[in-house]
This record gives sequence, C-alpha cells and structure tokens, in this order.
Amino acid sequence: MIQLIHPHFPAGKTPTPNSKVRGFIPVPGTPVEMPFTFIHGAKPGKAILLTGGVHGGEYPCIETAIQLANELDPAEVSGTILIISPVNTAAFLARMQYYGPFDGKNLNRVFPGKATGTVSERIAYAVYQLQQAADFFLDLHGGDIHEGLVPFVIYSKLGDPAKAEQSRLASALLGFPYVVGSVSDNGSIGAAAQAGTPGFLAELGQCGRWSPEEVDQYKAAVRNVLRSLEVIPGAVEQHQVAFLEKMLVTTATEDGCWYPAVQLEDRVKKGQKLGEIRDYFGTVKAEYLSDSDGIVLYLVTSLAITTNDPLCAIGVL
Ligand SMILES: [Zn+2]
Repeated sequence: MIQLIHPHFPAGKTPTPNSKVRGFIPVPGTPVEMPFTFIHGAKPGKAILLTGGVHGGEYPCIETAIQLANELDPAEVSGTILIISPVNTAAFLARMQYYGPFDGKNLNRVFPGKATGTVSERIAYAVYQLQQAADFFLDLHGGDIHEGLVPFVIYSKLGDPAKAEQSRLASALLGFPYVVGSVSDNGSIGAAAQAGTPGFLAELGQCGRWSPEEVDQYKAAVRNVLRSLEVIPGAVEQHQVAFLEKMLVTTATEDGCWYPAVQLEDRVKKGQKLGEIRDYFGTVKAEYLSDSDGIVLYLVTSLAITTNDPLCAIGVL
C-alpha cells in the first residue's frame, strides 16, 4: 500500500489505521495553511487525494469536501483519503475569482509549482508533492462567481496513455453530462498525469451560489468514483455521458462590457457568433466567433470583462 502521508505528520505520529485526523498543512515560506482531513481506512487500499477550492469562489465543491470529510467513515474505508479544502483559503475568504490575493496568480495555471516561487506557485508545489504520492486525484471545481456552466469533467491526456484512459473512464462515473480531454500542462490534473497519477477535474455549480441539492449530487458522484476505486464498498453505477475531444476557450482581447450571444449547452457551428465586447458607450469593440462546431460548456455571466479573461468554452465533439 502506498501511504499518502504528508511530512506534516511528525515521526511517530503517523495516523493509525481506522482513524480520522484533521489539521492544517503549512505551505513552506508562505502564511498559507491548507485545511485537511486524513481518513486512514481500517483496511489497506489505494491512496486518494481529493482537493476542493483551488479557486476560492467555487462553493458547491468546497461544501462537498467539508461534508464528505465528516461523513466518510474510516471503518468503511480501504486505503487512505486525504481531503484538502479549501486549498486556496485566502482566495475563499476574499471572495476572489480565479486568482489568489498574495500574488494575483491563478493557482490552477501554475502547476506543478515551484518550491521557491510566489505564494500560488508554492501552494501548487505543495499539492504536487501530495499528487505524486497518490494513486488517484480528484480535483473538485465549479463555475466561478461570474461563470455559468453545465456540469462537466476534464481529464488529462498527458502522460501514460493507459492512465489517461483510466482517468477518462473514471470521469464518466461522476455522471455529469460531458467529459472532455485536455492537453494543458500547467493545471492540477496535467501535473498529476505527468507525475503518473490518474484523476480528473470536476465542474459543478455556478455563479457564486451553492445549494444542498448540488452538494448532494456532488457527494454521490464522488462516492461512485470512490466505489470504483474500491476505497469504499458498494456497487458502481454506470452513466451515459458524452465524451468530447477537447475544449476551446475564447478569451477577451479588450476591457469593457461582455454580451454573450449564446447560452449554456447551445450547439454552435464554426464561425457562429459567441458574443461581443462593447465599450461604456455601447459601441462594439470586438466580436467573438466559434473556432469550431461544439457545445457551450461555460459562459462568463458578468457584464464586466477584462483583457485575457475567458469568455466562453466550447466542447468539441
Ligand atoms: Zn476552478
């Protein structure tokens, strides 16, 4: 059994089987301490890493992690489950979208991080150390405070093809309608894949809100994946989902006001208008067209937009 034990546990204080330990993992060289729950199962099995709140404004996943950490019973667990959430506590408290307050960086764009980097890079590096020790990595996200989305799952195509396939199939077990492959190498799952750890990044919830229904859906979805990994007992439920080849993100080239011309889950054609940015007097500054046929997976809902912000993502069949 691979033990997913962080150096945070001093020698001789490693949690014993059939126990649950809580605390904070300090990120060296920063004021950041990541809240964790370590569930050491009664029986041997896989080492699971689950993170929520890499982005501070994605609430259903953060509440899901809190409830799962409370509800998962070590007596029923085979292996270990390390839950860290919210990873980006300072961003959570500051109600920040995408970025962290210490360095203005997007934590999910700086993986695998740097031991001697900025705060976000050091957080990524600390998570990356844990990813490398894990057998499977679940990174829970959602639409940010200003983003609408249809639930979907991203898996990485990087690294070992057999593990990428494992990630793809596990992604479908969440039962979210769309599963999309990614070749991004600076996000959490890209780093994990390159380190040899399969996993996925899940997206559920939107627009700075959360509901008990979304959290129940998220928890049931995660439990289904944990059953498939034989970390908790029970039958695995299979789901019909659409597998998409890739996701194309359109980004803003101007500051101003954003007017989408499509809605979530719209089927769009290549060249179809996705929306436009106007100035403060209503004059159009830029129009954005779809680069491909596909399905609208997420859409920025705020009127305010700044250059380089994502506007819209199209899942390509
Ligand atoms: Zn996110």
